[in-house]
Amino acid sequence: MTTCDVTIIGAGPYGLSAAAHLRTVKGLEVRVFGEPMSFWKHNMPAGMFLRSNWTATQIADPNYALTLEAYKTANGNHLSHPVPLHRFIQYALWYQRQAVPDLDQRKIARVESHPNGFRLILEDGEVVNSRRVIVATGISSFAWRPPEFEGLPPWLASHTSENRDLCRLAGKQVLVIGGGQSALESAALLREVGAEVEVVARTHRIHWLQGWTSRALHHQMGKFTSRLLYAPTDVGPAGISQLMARPELLRRLPRGIKDRLWKRSVRPAGARWLVNRLQNVSIRLGRSVVSVGPVGEQVKVRLDDGSERTVQHVLLGTGYHVDIAKYDFLGPELARRIHCVNGYPCLTKGLETSVQGLHILGAPAAWSFGPLMQFVSGTHYASRSLVRFIAGRGATQVGDETTT
Ligand SMILES: Cc1cc2nc3c(=O)[nH]c(=O)nc-3n(C[C@H](O)[C@H](O)[C@H](O)COP(=O)(O)OP(=O)(O)OC[C@H]3O[C@@H](n4cnc5c(N)ncnc54)[C@H](O)[C@@H]3O)c2cc1C
Repeated sequence: MTTCDVTIIGAGPYGLSAAAHLRTVKGLEVRVFGEPMSFWKHNMPAGMFLRSNWTATQIADPNYALTLEAYKTANGNHLSHPVPLHRFIQYALWYQRQAVPDLDQRKIARVESHPNGFRLILEDGEVVNSRRVIVATGISSFAWRPPEFEGLPPWLASHTSENRDLCRLAGKQVLVIGGGQSALESAALLREVGAEVEVVARTHRIHWLQGWTSRALHHQMGKFTSRLLYAPTDVGPAGISQLMARPELLRRLPRGIKDRLWKRSVRPAGARWLVNRLQNVSIRLGRSVVSVGPVGEQVKVRLDDGSERTVQHVLLGTGYHVDIAKYDFLGPELARRIHCVNGYPCLTKGLETSVQGLHILGAPAAWSFGPLMQFVSGTHYASRSLVRFIAGRGATQVGDETTT
């Protein structure tokens, strides 16, 4: 059994960035666990492009030395915008090798309270005691399947996160459900591998990003106006973007206003570069699925206008619903003590939960700190806030607080 000051669970953008920042705190012993970038490697479709812009695609590091530009220079790799998925993964793995070379790729099977903080059990049974735990395990546990699709076998219906290689659906008739980036980009990729695709979405119109107004404000009104209206973090429309980039300020706003701004900032939308790629894909808007059932090797889907389709596969681009009860590594006693609203933990300074010494980063932090936490660009705020909080308390105090 080993003991350390801080354990980070997760080696995606948030875990890696938190590790890079915490390692600047003198005397703090930090261990990091998890397969690096596993969600991006296994749960996003090959051929995908990142929707976030260049400045918002940087994983924060304390010295601004591990940027996309630095990666490009160090590796001589050409990087275009939008950034292709495989290049972003290469960048993040390069970041990991520089900032967290001693990453331990084992999974954490269990986290429990312990008199001196927390007890972590690794997948192979090894035990680590830690005064603080930073959970940065992302959204893969939260993939949402509408109830109508429960019980269908995986070869008839799957979530977008289960399809790394869409070529397996080449030549098939596929119905894609959803009107956001994931559904629309999957539909384009499916069409390009030779599937017969139709998209069905509840929304009455697809919101395309980078429309005329946004392009004019970004590029034609001068750099000053653009910078005034849009923060480099690139979450939210003109003006609101600046507020979203200030999670500490956002946290203090009344709940109703915060929720309205959140909804407006991350409503389902598609990147403009998908428009041409979807020209030959039929998109049925304003419709929802009322029933689904297998018919032999196929699946029959009935919509609320009474129409029916029988297809070989349904691809669910239905997003993610955060609910930290689904983090199965959190022991039940510990999970019960985390104060949550609608599945989101209520976090205070340093992204700490109601359990002292237990912090949660990434999308689950959005209820407290806004939608920036759902994106890579939120690593700038999260890591700095965390390091300020932990350094402010001193490495030796942390375990003492959790003994109450
Ligand atoms: C299709 C799609 C496209 C997206 N495009 C963008 C985009 O263009 N720009 C953007 O900013 N965001 C994008 N996002 C959002 C993106 O998922 C988040 O920005 C990002 O992944 C958040 O990083 P994270 O570190 O919180 O989580 P993740 O990247 O999911 O990392 C979590 C890590 O935790 C590890 N882990 C999980 N459980 C355990 C365990 N028990 N023990 C040890 N390790 C564990 C995993 O190995 C993984 O590496 C997209 C999301 C999707 C679904």
